[in-house]
Amino acid sequence: MTVWKCSECGHTIQEAVPPETCPSCRQKCEFVDASCYTPDCGGPDSGNINPDIAKEHKK
Ligand SMILES: [Zn+2]
Repeated sequence: MTVWKCSECGHTIQEAVPPETCPSCRQKCEFVDASCYTPDCGGPDSGNINPDIAKEHKK
């Protein structure tokens, strides 16, 4: 599973592939891979979000 984060509203979703339409803001958003790949937050299998990406917000 990959954690995807909506680049518009910051909504995160855990799916194999990112949805076409964001379930939160209902836009065709760009989803960024927000999975954590470092042991700091549990590694790639933890389903945790990369804190560096999680704190990024456009708005
Ligand atoms: Zn969104």
